[in-house]
Amino acid sequence: MIRLQKKLAEAGVSSRRGAVEIIEAGRVKVNGVVIKQPGHSVGSDDKVTVDDRVIEKEEHVYYLLNKPTGYVTTVKDDLKRRTVMSLFEEVDKAQRIFPIGRLDYDTAGILLFTNDGDLAYYLTRPEFEVPKTYLARVEGMLTKVAIKALKTGVKIDNYLTRPARVKAVEYDTKNNSTLVEIIISEGKNQQVRKMMETVGFPVKNLTRVGYAFLTLDGVERGGYRPLKIHEVKKLY
Ligand code: URA
Repeated sequence: MIRLQKKLAEAGVSSRRGAVEIIEAGRVKVNGVVIKQPGHSVGSDDKVTVDDRVIEKEEHVYYLLNKPTGYVTTVKDDLKRRTVMSLFEEVDKAQRIFPIGRLDYDTAGILLFTNDGDLAYYLTRPEFEVPKTYLARVEGMLTKVAIKALKTGVKIDNYLTRPARVKAVEYDTKNNSTLVEIIISEGKNQQVRKMMETVGFPVKNLTRVGYAFLTLDGVERGGYRPLKIHEVKKLY
């Protein structure tokens, strides 16, 4: 059983708040009877109509995009820059998908999309944040002291980052740079870039290579794939 208000929102009729107005206006019937309480419980067998039209549950879809650099993570951009949405086929976009969280314009890698507001909400709440794995190419030879600081927590914008997993994957002495793997389970604005900057090793380029158990395997840069049902279940 779910609340009538949620049922309408899930069906894509409106937002949950908008649903309250529609219900209170007397436009909604459950099994032929007008119901004006947004909290009224309905089950899957109940026939719900809005303005006498039966509502169907909108099918939820989930995609993993391998974002290239040079795209903004937004559904619409007022500055008319290229958006991540432009990488989707029209038929997939028609499902009113939106990105879960954000990657910077200059960051590449895994970005999930869905029309499932509940999953998006869950995955982006700080208390539920899933581990995200980044590969960062940084300037200079990353020191043990810096790694320890990053692992323990560093101050960025007056915020102390939570413990992270960090390791130097490869030192490039010729170009004086280090490839660093960093796993964080929170998502402050530009968090990795700011963390590396704080310990004195600015990021030259950044890719998200893991999101929970998901990887970029089999998805080329700029491409995307639908998530499998068992993957969606595992994310919840
Ligand atoms: N951290 C960053 O600095 N940028 C991103 O896009 C993601 C994580």
